[in-house]
Amino acid sequence: MELANKHVLVIGAKRSGLAAAALLRRHGARVRVMDSQPLAPEEQAKFDALGAPVLPQSLENVTEQGREPDLIVISPAVPYDLPMLTAARARGVEVIGEVELASSFLKGPVIGITGSNGKTTTTALTGHLLRDCGIACQVGGNIGTAVTSLIDSSSDQQWNVLEMSSFQLESIAHFRARIGACLNVTPDHLDRHHTFESYAAAKARLFETQQPGDYAVLNYDDATCHTYAERAKAQVLWFSSSRRVPEGVWMSADEIRFNDRPFLRRSQIRLRGLHNVENVMAAALMAHLAGADLSKLGAAVESFPGVEHRIEFVRAVEGVEYYNDSKATNVDAALKAIDAFPGNLWIILGGKDKGSEYTPLREPLQQRAKAALLIGAEPPYPYAAAPLISRALDGALPLVDCGNIEGAVRYARQHAAPGDVVLLAPACASFDQFKNFEERGAMFKQLVKELL
Ligand code: ADP
Repeated sequence: MELANKHVLVIGAKRSGLAAAALLRRHGARVRVMDSQPLAPEEQAKFDALGAPVLPQSLENVTEQGREPDLIVISPAVPYDLPMLTAARARGVEVIGEVELASSFLKGPVIGITGSNGKTTTTALTGHLLRDCGIACQVGGNIGTAVTSLIDSSSDQQWNVLEMSSFQLESIAHFRARIGACLNVTPDHLDRHHTFESYAAAKARLFETQQPGDYAVLNYDDATCHTYAERAKAQVLWFSSSRRVPEGVWMSADEIRFNDRPFLRRSQIRLRGLHNVENVMAAALMAHLAGADLSKLGAAVESFPGVEHRIEFVRAVEGVEYYNDSKATNVDAALKAIDAFPGNLWIILGGKDKGSEYTPLREPLQQRAKAALLIGAEPPYPYAAAPLISRALDGALPLVDCGNIEGAVRYARQHAAPGDVVLLAPACASFDQFKNFEERGAMFKQLVKELL
C-alpha cells in the first residue's frame, strides 16, 4: 500500500487508532484523527507527538478545506455503517479498518480466530501450543495488541496468531488468514450489527478472503459454520465435542482424536466446561495445521493455565468456591459457565442489557442454582438488565436484588454453604457500573480476597 503524502483520516483515537496513526505517519502519510469523545491530555499528547492532529468528530471535519481524504481508517469500535462513512464511500473514498491497513505490512502467515465466545481463550491457547511445540509465533489482535503494532516484530518465519472480532472483520478486503477458525456464532452485538444475519456475514469475511490451499477450521455442531464451509475456498477441517467429523478433531469418550489418531485425553484439560474442550480442539487443530507435532500437543495443552476473567478460580472460603467469569458478557457465555458446574450455584447476574433474551437461563438455573443475585444500574437507566432478568426467571429460583457486586458478594458469603459455588457470570455488559469487564472481574476478585 502506497501511503507517502496521502491524506488519511483515522477515526477512533484509542489503542488501534494510535497504532494506525503511527504506522501511517511512518510511511509518510498526512494524518488527521477524529474521535466522538474528547481525549484525556496524555492521550492527546501521543497523537501530537506523531504530528497527527485530533479533531472533534463531525461531518465537516471529514474533509480538509474541502479536500476529500484519500483513505479513511477506522478502529474496530467505529461502526462501518456510520452515516458519515456511508456518505464518504458513496463519494468514492476508500474506508478500511485497522486490520486491513496492517495486513499489507505484516510479514509471516496468519492464524485468524473468530467466534461469538471463546476467541481470547483459543487465541491465547493456540499461541501457547505453538510456542510449546517449538513453532515461532506472536499473538495479538482483539486480544490486546493492535495488529499494526505487531508489524515491526513480524517475520516471514513466524506465525501471527490473531483474535478477530466481527467489528474487525467486517471491513477487511485483502487481509488473508492462512488458517481461519470460527468457534461458534450465537447472537451478540446486535446493538451494532442490527441482525443476526449481518453479524454472521461480518464473521464470514474471514473465510471469503481466504485462498485455495488455506485452511478453514470450523465447529461441526454450529449451523452458521456450515454455511461458511459451503462457501469456503480453503480446505475445511472440523472440530466437534459431540460426534465424529469428516476430517479434523473430535472426541470419543475421554479420547480426543485427529481423524483416527488419539492425541489428547479430556482429563488432561485443566479448563472447566465442555466449551473449553471445544476451544482446545480448535486450538490443537490449528497448531497441528501450522506444523505442531500431534505427539507434543497433549503435554502442551496440559500446561495451559487459562485466561483471567474466564471461569477463573479465585478462592475457597469455608468450603465455598468463588469463580470469576466476568467475561460472560452474553447469555450464551453465561450458559456455558453454568454448565461447567454440577450444581449448588449462587450466580451473580445483571449489568447493561444488550437486547438479549434471558429465558434460556431459566431451566439450567432452576436445576443448578440456589439463587440468582442481581446487580446493575436500575431504571431510569435505560439499559438496566436486572428487571428483564427478573421477569425472565420469575418463579424458577429465588432472586435477590443486591444492587451491586459488593452487595452480591456479601450476600453470598452470608448464605452459601460448604460445597456451594459463587459464580460471577453476569450475561450482560459491564458498562453501567464499570469501565469494562476487566474492572468488574478485578473488583469481584478483590472483594472475594478480602472476605473473612
Ligand atoms: P471472547 O474473546 O470470544 O469473548 P473468551 O475466551 O474471552 O471469548 O470467553 C468469553 C466468555 O465465553 C467466557 O465467559 C467464557 O467462559 C465463555 N466461553 C469461552 N469459550 C466458549 C465457547 N467455545 N462457547 C461458549 N462460551 C465460551
